[in-house]
Amino acid sequence: MRRKFIAGNWKMNKTNQEAIELVEGLVKELSGIDSVDIVVCPPFTALSDVKDVIDGSNIALGAQNMYFKEKGAFTGEISPLMLKDIGCEYVILGHSERRGIFGEKSDLIEKKVISAFDHGLTPILCVGETLSEREAGDTFKVVEGELRNELKSLSKEQMKKVVIAYEPIWAIGTGKSATSSDAKEVIDFIRKILADMFDDNVKDAVRILYGGSVKPDNISSFMKEETIDGALVGGASLKVDSFSAIVKGAL
Ligand code: PEP
Repeated sequence: MRRKFIAGNWKMNKTNQEAIELVEGLVKELSGIDSVDIVVCPPFTALSDVKDVIDGSNIALGAQNMYFKEKGAFTGEISPLMLKDIGCEYVILGHSERRGIFGEKSDLIEKKVISAFDHGLTPILCVGETLSEREAGDTFKVVEGELRNELKSLSKEQMKKVVIAYEPIWAIGTGKSATSSDAKEVIDFIRKILADMFDDNVKDAVRILYGGSVKPDNISSFMKEETIDGALVGGASLKVDSFSAIVKGAL
C-alpha cells in the first residue's frame, strides 16, 4: 500500500518572515494528519527557518534543487551535504523550470539523482512533456527518455524510494490542469516503464504524483485514480488555506 504524498514547491517566493508565517499556519492547520506524507520545499534561504518551525510536526522539508558535488568551486550552487545538514529529507530534481530555463539535461539530472541517494536524500524527480511535444504525439517518448536516462543507475531498493512527479509542462502555472484521465494514462505508462527497467515490485512501490495547476477544487479528481498517489503543488502551496485544503482533499 503506497502512502499518499503531497508536496509544495514554493519556487522563488517568500522572504524568511513570509516563509515562517506560511509554515506556522500549515503546522497548525495540518496537525494530526498522519495518513499523508506532507512536504514543503521553500527557497534555499528559508530552509533553516522553516526547519525550526516544522521540527516535531508532521511536515517534512525538501529543497528545490541541488548540485551533485559535495563541495568545491561551484559558485552559486548548493550541495547535498548542506541540504542534509540543514534537515532536508527530500530534493526536487529535474523540475521543468530547471530543464527549460536553466538548460539542465538528463546526464546532469541523473548525477543529481545518484548523489541525492549517496547523501540520504530522497529525490522527487519531475518528468513531463511540453505542449508542442504533446501536440506532436511525443508525450510517451519524452517521458520514457527522461525515466530511462535519469533512473538507469539506481538499484531496485533505491528506485522504490524515488518519488516521481508527472508534470505536463503546459499545465504548470497556467491554471489549465490535465484531466485526471490524461494524468492517469501517463502515470500508468510510467509504471509500465518502471516494470520494464526494474520489476513489478518496483512498479507497485514507487509513488507517482501529478503536478500542474492542482487546486483545492481539482485534487479529489486526481486522488480518486488508484495509480495517482498525490500531487506536487506550485502556486496553490503559497497560501495556508489552499495548501491545507489540498492536503485534506487527499485524505
Ligand atoms: C510546479 O511548479 O511543480 C507546479 C506544479 O506548479 P503549479 O501548481 O503552479 O502549476
